[in-house]
Amino acid sequence: MTMTLPYQEPLVPLEPGERRIPEPPRRGEAGGPPCGICAGRATAAVWSDEHWTLHPPVGGSLRGAVWLASREHVDSFSDLPDELACDFGRVAARVEKAMLTVLDDVARVHLYRWGDGGSHFHVWFLPRPLGMLEATGMMLPLWEDVLPNLSDEELAEAGRDIAAAM
Ligand SMILES: [Zn+2]
Repeated sequence: MTMTLPYQEPLVPLEPGERRIPEPPRRGEAGGPPCGICAGRATAAVWSDEHWTLHPPVGGSLRGAVWLASREHVDSFSDLPDELACDFGRVAARVEKAMLTVLDDVARVHLYRWGDGGSHFHVWFLPRPLGMLEATGMMLPLWEDVLPNLSDEELAEAGRDIAAAM
């Protein structure tokens, strides 16, 4: 078994649509909806320090998935002050280690930073289930989407377990 799409073949490639330029504003950008993280509408943080907050998702299928956000509203890595950019490596390592310590069936922790939905810096940490080789590499978020969701309370409980190991 190798990296595999979570869909039956044959899949038919699509042509890209018309480009939308300028792109619609994201959450937290001028002209866009307000930033949900700054407005406190994200899931409650399970862990935080002076620079970062750690949150469980809602409507997810991977137990132990979490996302890390900066306290300050900045967009991407290049917008972080140098001190925070350096600190990101330290805190990401702590999150990864806590996930691997607490979750007993995880092979590897994948980090994803897209930034296409909201403009507030946040990075996803997705646990790739042990032995699930079809979900290696870029396939994990696709599998995450098609697998049945856990309850939000289960996701939050796993997040609290990870926080306790931070
Ligand atoms: Zn924000």
